[in-house]
Amino acid sequence: MKHEKLIIMGSGPAGLTAAIYAARANLKPLVIEGFEPGGQLTLTSEVENFPGFPEGVMGPELMENFKKQAERFGARFVLGNVEGAQLSKRPFEIKVGAEGFSCDSFIIASGASARWLGIESEKKYRGKGVSTCATCDGAFYRNMEVAVVGGGDSAMEEANFLTRFCSKIYVIHRREEFRASKIMLERAQKNPKIEFIMNAAVKEIQGAQTVEKLILESTRDHSTRELAVQGLFVAIGHVPNTTIFKDQLPMNEQGYLLTRPNTTETEISGVFSAGDVHDFRYRQAITAAGSGCRAAMDAEKYLESLGH
Ligand code: NAP
Repeated sequence: MKHEKLIIMGSGPAGLTAAIYAARANLKPLVIEGFEPGGQLTLTSEVENFPGFPEGVMGPELMENFKKQAERFGARFVLGNVEGAQLSKRPFEIKVGAEGFSCDSFIIASGASARWLGIESEKKYRGKGVSTCATCDGAFYRNMEVAVVGGGDSAMEEANFLTRFCSKIYVIHRREEFRASKIMLERAQKNPKIEFIMNAAVKEIQGAQTVEKLILESTRDHSTRELAVQGLFVAIGHVPNTTIFKDQLPMNEQGYLLTRPNTTETEISGVFSAGDVHDFRYRQAITAAGSGCRAAMDAEKYLESLGH
């Protein structure tokens, strides 16, 4: 089993920023990239709110640059998924496919994945009118009519945010009751640009090249109707990629990792978390990058305490 000082799980903004900082600190980190190298930003098109790019930058290009910067200082990469981790003994053991690694410190930056509806046409129009991020893509829908699916705080937040750009926003929710907090729900209900369509599910998405209309199905009597929109924002929650750490690390009810106050360190010394895997509130590339930096600095201090 090959031994490493520091293994970083994940190659989104959090993991790659941790890699840049750790590599510059001469820790020669090994990054396990995951099956979606570059993370969620590789699923978006143009990123307009990442500081330093006044003209905007394409998500995949931004992540490619993060990676090059980490490589320049000696970070190494393994394309694969962390399939298992043994964190109760030292050194820690990390399983990647058929390969096993041991390490003194471990940064978990495995992110969260947007939950999708699971219908076939949703895949076809991804990036062509179907999005899971209003903050990323909302500005492309200026003066257009769009729909948001979901009945939680994310859906209300997305709908409210989209009122800045869109002429009309339909919120489609599958039942009468909401998971959203009262305050966020009321804000959306009071907004004249937002119309609620209750007891409905998106059955199909249609359009020549990009989204043109939705086929909605009543969850009560299964009757269908068409809704003309140019965009569909799926806001039915995120799932943190923490399944393999169940029973090993403290998490909240939704599975987001918990850290000790004012640090990125988890309950296990030497194991750190960065980015969306513990942050369900901000979920931005820049905040994830910031927490990746913090995790690398915490790992460096920890390794120093071990005499490395
Ligand atoms: P959530 O609270 O779990 O709500 C998900 C919503 O999506 C629910 O209304 C659910 O419907 C619906 N849904 C799930 N699967 C669906 C499917 N396959 N088809 C159609 N609808 C589906 O998730 P969230 O809104 O992302 O919020 C997650 C956490 O983050 C919450 O604790 C929330 O308070 C927090 N958050 C906070 C803020 C804020 O304070 N600014 C913003 C965003 C999120 P059912 O109700 O029928 O299950």
